[in-house]
Amino acid sequence: MAERRLQVTSRLGLHARAAANLVRVASQFKSSLTLQRLDGNAEEADAKSILSILTLAASRGTDLKIVASGEDEQEALEAVVSLFSRDFDETEKADGDHVSRATQELRCKGLGVSDGVVIGRVLRLQEGTRNVYRAEIAEADLERERRRFRAAVRVARRQLETIKDRAEKELGRGHAYIFDAHLLFLQDAKLTRDVEDYIVKERSNAEWAAKVVGDRLLSIYTQINDEYLRERGSDIEDVIQRLLANLTGEGPKYPNLSEDAVVVSTDLLPSTIAELNLNHVKAIATDGGGWTSHMAIIARGLGLTTVVGLRDFYQRTRTGDRIIVDARRGEVVLHPAEETIAQYQFTSAGPAPAPDGEIERGPVKTLDGVEISLRANVELSTEFQAVRDFGACGVGLFRSEFLLSRPGLMTSDTEQYETYKSLTEAAGEYGAIVRLFDVGGEVGPDMKERERNPALGLRAVRFNLRHQEIMRTQVRAILRAAATGPLSLVIPMVADVGDVRMAKRVIEEELERLKAENVSCSPVQIGAMIEVPSAVLTAEKIAGEVDFFELGTNDLVQYTLAVDRGNNKVSEWFRTLHPAVLYGIDRTVQAAKAAGIPVIVCGEMASTPAYAVLLVGLGAIDLSMTPAMIPAVRAVLSQINTNEARAVALKCLAAATADEVEELWLNYAEVATRQSSNR
Ligand code: PEP
Ligand code: MG
Repeated sequence: MAERRLQVTSRLGLHARAAANLVRVASQFKSSLTLQRLDGNAEEADAKSILSILTLAASRGTDLKIVASGEDEQEALEAVVSLFSRDFDETEKADGDHVSRATQELRCKGLGVSDGVVIGRVLRLQEGTRNVYRAEIAEADLERERRRFRAAVRVARRQLETIKDRAEKELGRGHAYIFDAHLLFLQDAKLTRDVEDYIVKERSNAEWAAKVVGDRLLSIYTQINDEYLRERGSDIEDVIQRLLANLTGEGPKYPNLSEDAVVVSTDLLPSTIAELNLNHVKAIATDGGGWTSHMAIIARGLGLTTVVGLRDFYQRTRTGDRIIVDARRGEVVLHPAEETIAQYQFTSAGPAPAPDGEIERGPVKTLDGVEISLRANVELSTEFQAVRDFGACGVGLFRSEFLLSRPGLMTSDTEQYETYKSLTEAAGEYGAIVRLFDVGGEVGPDMKERERNPALGLRAVRFNLRHQEIMRTQVRAILRAAATGPLSLVIPMVADVGDVRMAKRVIEEELERLKAENVSCSPVQIGAMIEVPSAVLTAEKIAGEVDFFELGTNDLVQYTLAVDRGNNKVSEWFRTLHPAVLYGIDRTVQAAKAAGIPVIVCGEMASTPAYAVLLVGLGAIDLSMTPAMIPAVRAVLSQINTNEARAVALKCLAAATADEVEELWLNYAEVATRQSSNR
């Protein structure tokens, strides 16, 4: 046995890259090589295991004892000591790169989709991150389970090699090293052998075993007393998530959240946002998404400071990095300098809180006395209170699909009934409108079997008609809740009158059944969402079959202009003020008027004060929006004259391009603002 004492002198300590170099050197020898902290603050580490070395948390200045034992112990010891004296072969330049990655301020522009500024710490979330469950594996199947795990490791290795090659080409060798460390994690017996042992010993499925072993390693990391090394725990987290994704497409639950967590992701499912612990999560920053993506809508509704469309931001972050999210400027700042933080601390403010004191309620009157109803769009029961707080005329749209807290999980009849009942209470005298599940598209019931073109697939009314057991359960819950207060139902994304008739038949059948069963229930008003071009073009026919229309401008823009509302690559083609969209709105409003039925405009257009004026100009007098926007829309509408708005809206209808409409509208808005401040 040979041993030596020495001190870690390299600037960043024994971090992932240094540890990777140590593993490489140690593995060339037959002798065993161990490292021990002289202060006894960690267990003995195997110098051939990167995970083991990292758990030493040996920062600069740590005293260690190295012990070599075996036939070539002397050479092994010398080689390792020499590596220590060369500071693990890290060039100053590479170290410099590293430090700068961790500390250089980086600003990225995106799209702010809510209000507020938040200073916090990054929490990386990869979509598809879901619960991992334990399953008991039969004795005879244990070998197969281990093989499954090894296969997932092999796939992860191939993926990481590809990523590493790309990173090397695009970012340079200095940045690609981190994937070397990831690859070493995958080869590390501390991970792979422990997982396989756990599978066998506990007769556990591979996912659960990987999660338990991964969590154990992570918990060692969270106790590390060195901030830089502790943050490297996110590398282990990355590898474990990759393994879990390869095993099942599912990952571990969110790690422990700090008080000021900023969720950073490539994209998020609305259901993931709905599940976040809002006591901890203060902001969201995503690579994808647009103003009208469901993720943005729900983040706005929850008052989360959110910037979307940041393109390749996610890959630049690590869990624990300092970050500022400025939704007002549509900007994020990673690794902000102290002066930047100080500036923001001086000016920062969260999203607008619920107004206190007296708030105006009910419809707003324009200067020429036209009454316009301002209703609330609501997604979650946590938002019910906002209906009253912001003085809404009830709930114009309850996006009920957010009850499906995670993809694939349907809620029970009773659970739905209770929710619709409390929705009715929250909405008060003006009542609430529940939309039948608008699933498919972005919010799929089964994310594992995504359609090739979900927005044009089995979405909304089509999903309901295909899965009638789900539709009937929901309809029954709505009809029962309607006995407790004013409640209506709207059918999403109808393409024509045929869809409406089929859906109505199901609703009528369920009403009859409930009556026959002597269950307390009530008939409801039935509306149709007008949001696809075929519904606009046949609006007169649909109007003859329903009690009201709801105009979904988000989808109307998407389908009229053939622009995916959640794809930031085409966001510049997503033009809400396109004449074709205005034409669709005008036609729908006229068809409703001719049939004598109300039309409620409930897309994000209504939540934007300037656009709300245009909607009024096009004849809409019933708008439904994000509750927090009601006071702003109310203030603007109370200062307009509908005849003037109508005159400009007519000019916009005659325009040829979205640019022309925007210019016309901008001029009008400027004049109107000047006039209102003179009044
Ligand atoms: C719309 O499409 O405008 C709408 C209100 O519905 P959603 O945004 O939920 O699709
Ligand atoms: Mg829609």
